[in-house]
Amino acid sequence: MENPLKQYFRAPGAFIKLPSKGMFYSVPPKLSVEGELAIYPMTAEDELWLKNPDALLNGEALKRIVASCAPDIHNPEETTIADADVIMVTARFVTYGDDLTVSSECPTCQENTDYSFKLPDIIANIREMPAETFVNINELKVFLKPSTVALQTKQGVAALQYRMLLNKLAVENKEPEERQQELLKSFAHNVTTMQFETLRENIVKIEMPDGNHVSNKDHVKDWLKNIKKVEFDALNSKIDDLNNSGTDIDYNAECRACSHKYNTRISMDPISFFG
Ligand SMILES: [Zn+2]
Repeated sequence: MENPLKQYFRAPGAFIKLPSKGMFYSVPPKLSVEGELAIYPMTAEDELWLKNPDALLNGEALKRIVASCAPDIHNPEETTIADADVIMVTARFVTYGDDLTVSSECPTCQENTDYSFKLPDIIANIREMPAETFVNINELKVFLKPSTVALQTKQGVAALQYRMLLNKLAVENKEPEERQQELLKSFAHNVTTMQFETLRENIVKIEMPDGNHVSNKDHVKDWLKNIKKVEFDALNSKIDDLNNSGTDIDYNAECRACSHKYNTRISMDPISFFG
């Protein structure tokens, strides 16, 4: 039997355009006739859960927020990072209102300064992803797709494991030096492998001058292992562009202690963003 209380559940607080326009999803999100996605406020349960950082990894938090606040996205893991940023900004707005205060640490003197933003201003400036998603590498045309929440979660887990390993080595200091070096070396190897695998996941296909396409993952991986650093960097920089394209969250900061001026961006790490 359907729950008769269902009609009294929370309603969407806003409808937004996604930077991806719903592309790159295996099942496209359900959008309104105007092509917009419904964003719901966080539930009490979400808020309680976010206050318990022990249980959390940023990637897990992001998945939970998308699942709860943007339920018309079929599989939260497929959410592009640009879309996830927009969903978080809007979810925060419909849950807590206009104001966002963030703290930035000065790179010169390490003093923290607070900055205030109006979330509706950020939402009003949501942009679509660049239509062009390829990079020319020599005679090849490499078609890319933006990173997803699933990919970012994987990277987050690896970064966390690395910090835990460093802590363990620093605190215990029991392992012989040789063993420490060995652990760090094997970890560095894993990180490099992951950088290649991540990049491979972002490559949709490679077009050759004769018009043929290669999308076989092993072939793409082999190719990645045989290109120059500058080419590797060009691919990563295009992916960064796709990931960061949706929201204008850069700002000019000026340290209140030493007046140092620098450019930075609002951290979209969900635990601090909703904290
Ligand atoms: Zn300073």
